[in-house]
Amino acid sequence: MSHQTLPVASLGFPRIGRHRELKFALEGYWSGKVTEDDLLETAKRLRAENWALQRDLGITRIPSSDFSFYDHVLDTAVMVGAIPAVYGWNGGNVPLSLYFAMARGSQGDGHADCGHAHHGHGVPALEMTKWFDTNYHYMVPEVSEDQAFRLTSHKPVDHFLEAKALGIHTRPVVLGPVTFLKLAKARPATFKPLDLLAKLLPVYEELFGRLGAAGADWVQVDEPVLALDLTEGERHAFKMAYERLAAAVPGLKLMLTTYFGALDDNLAAAAALPVAGLHVDLVRAPEQLDAVAAAVRAGQVLSLGVIDGRNIWRADLAAIVDRLAPLVSARGADAVEVAASCSLLHVPIDLALETALDGDLKGWLAFATQKLGELSTLGKGLAQGKEAVREALNDASKAVAARASSPKVTDPLVQGRIAGIDDGMKTRASPFEQRRTLQADAVRLPLFPTTTIGSFPQTSEVRKARAAHAKGELSYMDYQAFLRRQTGLVIRWQEEIGLDVLVHGEFERNDMVQYFGEQLAGFAFTRHAWVQSYGSRYVRPPIIFGDVSRPNPMTVEWWKYAQSLTQKPVKGMLTGPVTILNWSFVRDDLPREAICRQIALAIRDEVLDLEKAGAKMIQIDEAALREGLPLRHKDWQHYLDWAVESFRLCSGGVADRTQIHTHMCYSEFNDIIAAIAAMDADVISIETSRSKMELLDAFRNFRYPNEIGPGVYDIHSPRVPEVDEMTDLLSLARLRLEDRQLWINPDCGLKTRRWEEVRPALANMVEAAWRLRKAGGSAEPAAASR
Ligand code: GLN
Ligand code: ZN
Repeated sequence: MSHQTLPVASLGFPRIGRHRELKFALEGYWSGKVTEDDLLETAKRLRAENWALQRDLGITRIPSSDFSFYDHVLDTAVMVGAIPAVYGWNGGNVPLSLYFAMARGSQGDGHADCGHAHHGHGVPALEMTKWFDTNYHYMVPEVSEDQAFRLTSHKPVDHFLEAKALGIHTRPVVLGPVTFLKLAKARPATFKPLDLLAKLLPVYEELFGRLGAAGADWVQVDEPVLALDLTEGERHAFKMAYERLAAAVPGLKLMLTTYFGALDDNLAAAAALPVAGLHVDLVRAPEQLDAVAAAVRAGQVLSLGVIDGRNIWRADLAAIVDRLAPLVSARGADAVEVAASCSLLHVPIDLALETALDGDLKGWLAFATQKLGELSTLGKGLAQGKEAVREALNDASKAVAARASSPKVTDPLVQGRIAGIDDGMKTRASPFEQRRTLQADAVRLPLFPTTTIGSFPQTSEVRKARAAHAKGELSYMDYQAFLRRQTGLVIRWQEEIGLDVLVHGEFERNDMVQYFGEQLAGFAFTRHAWVQSYGSRYVRPPIIFGDVSRPNPMTVEWWKYAQSLTQKPVKGMLTGPVTILNWSFVRDDLPREAICRQIALAIRDEVLDLEKAGAKMIQIDEAALREGLPLRHKDWQHYLDWAVESFRLCSGGVADRTQIHTHMCYSEFNDIIAAIAAMDADVISIETSRSKMELLDAFRNFRYPNEIGPGVYDIHSPRVPEVDEMTDLLSLARLRLEDRQLWINPDCGLKTRRWEEVRPALANMVEAAWRLRKAGGSAEPAAASR
């Protein structure tokens, strides 16, 4: 054999550092404790470590410029000069302070929740939204109709040279121009960002010219929008872009990189582009292999994304070698490379750090570092034959077999319950109209009842107590006593300001998914397995490795305690199955819908226990239902069907008089309103304060019959809304919905806010409800029942 290995590609490596070095450097810099030089030094060290690690593990296409201080889409916006006027850019070099102003606003304290950037006074941050269907968030670039583009930063060149100086030849990564513009937002919204393509391309040409001059032979150009539904015009934009870019610099080859789904109806367009290489995701879309292989030109390098960049399970390496070997011999080793399906940004860095994990489970996992090893094994196995890597293949096969047959993964009781699910379990006894009357009798509420979404501020006191308890410095009993005091205080305070439906405050929860996951069977938690969510905010998603069940009640004691302190109703507070699923690493040996159904049964058990304990209202949050929508429209209905079914499985067992609430953290409902209605929650609270209630049009047009709490308090801002602002918003709501449907609440939970803001804001909210009741005419003020 002439080749020792096929080319082996990593498309991007986590930038945060094994011990979250980047987070600490960034946050130190933002608070003035770390100098800019130290921050730059830390970043440089992390890049050097990552390059060396990838080289040492046998990666031959090592990425550079995958590093980012905050977000790679923001880097791209800055690099091409898409810097909105509010940031006061003078056209010269872009200083770090300007870059961070775009990321966080100019006086931001970094608090954000539900994926929204902080909006304070001063300069607001760019909007933030989810990167395709991952839990990574990017900053949404803004472009104007007369946008001028200019190469303002040479980051890809600088990093390429930085690696070169260390003796490491890299393949720079850039976000492609079509994806960049497709993700950008037009300001004002009078044109399509993609119309600016011709203006943007010269910047890419200049960049590629500089990369070529610096010695790069390949560039990885990420165009993940190729996995989305595209219009003919958008496909044409690819043709226009890549006919220019592929020829821009002689000798510089482009690896057009797609991921997160199949190329599908974009395959012909993608394969026709004159690029030297095409990368495809064969983890999300293994079925596209034959079609892709048939579509690419002879000699074009086909990059096979076979190691899962989105999940944490070890791969069956022998099976992959068997599957790819015929293709490799048909195309020739010069026209194939093996790769991760996408950047490893979405998985934790190194399993070796998890010294406390169950030994069996640990044997089934592969994090970014382990995945590099898998790739290198594949590269060798495909070039030299399986014998050359026999031991590694055997190890992988053994791990896969052990996982498949482990009793830790399967629970016959769960499987029996799943088999026993029938339609009756997913349906409330009576339709909403009848339930409504019974619920109004069970709990007397005024017109426009007021409530909150669940959490109250997680003050430094709360966080300190939790940390002290975790470290063993505060005993379990003392910690519980502390939490009870906090709960008691907020119950009393909610009564004092006159809220109608109270919550216990969620002080015992840090991350809600973690809170429930820790109490469910089938879940595991890591100590160091951080993944970037946005900027310096990292999460440690739970790992669902086995059948899910709920050994014991999870929230009943807290609810009971809170309810014992007041005559007013306290809502039970749960996280829904779709949200738990979407924010976890999920086992890959069952369809997602099957796992979701198991979680739903566990939550159902909790709902029924809360009801038995006396809860008359139970909220099941589905914050992440919308964000789980598949990338392709054709797959939406199936997803919505099982997502709704799972919710109904949670809620379908309660008596008519028990009121089921749900909450969703976003404001786009037009395209999913039928599914929202099918959930049949008695009350839904949503985020509306910023949209001026326009999104309620979706509910009005649909004639949504159940009750709704449109948020009137923007909890993403430290601003305290005036009573008038809230009554104005409510008047807008009343134009669209009937009074009897309306609840009054904030946009979302209050855990990231400060009491100084929350106290006056909620007092104003209650006052707004009073004014409305008085002016409402149709009903007497507060004391009247509905
Ligand atoms: N009940 C949760 C809270 O108030 C809901 C949060 C969410 O949906 N993101 O914090
Ligand atoms: Zn929310």
